[in-house]
Amino acid sequence: MGTAPLDQRSLRLILDEAGLRCTPQRLAVYDHLCRAAHHPTAEEVYHAVRSSIPRISLATVYKALEALVAVGVATKLTAGAGETRARFDARCDQHYHFRCLRTGAVHDLPTPFDPDLVAKLDPQLGEYLSRQGFQVTGYHLEFVGYHTHRAAGTSDQGAGA
Ligand SMILES: [Zn+2]
Repeated sequence: MGTAPLDQRSLRLILDEAGLRCTPQRLAVYDHLCRAAHHPTAEEVYHAVRSSIPRISLATVYKALEALVAVGVATKLTAGAGETRARFDARCDQHYHFRCLRTGAVHDLPTPFDPDLVAKLDPQLGEYLSRQGFQVTGYHLEFVGYHTHRAAGTSDQGAGA
């Protein structure tokens, strides 16, 4: 899965194949998710999408996000410490994040994903985990902290909102 957003036709095909309808609401939710750089919550997507689809409901936005996750074109991120709302990511390839503990905004890091990072961290770790009866299927790396100032391209509102 690449990092470039899918065009409407490809998204329609993927939803069709999964037996899910490609509604204007789902297209709008996906479109906003791709444009928002801060990995928005469902509520944030709802507020943004309402400008183009005023009668959309929060429940519809939730269902659209879950549909996008189900067909593998979006990812649901775990809520941060003290947060109850999940965030959503239009990227499905493995990548790293940094998260602002004040606003909850999550951003991508430009660093390429390294599948061998855990072994570099501790060559014994794989053996330790298998002794625990644990099979590793992946890992997440997320830096946490605070924005001390606004950098270009890290608006919490996302592009065009
Ligand atoms: Zn991301």
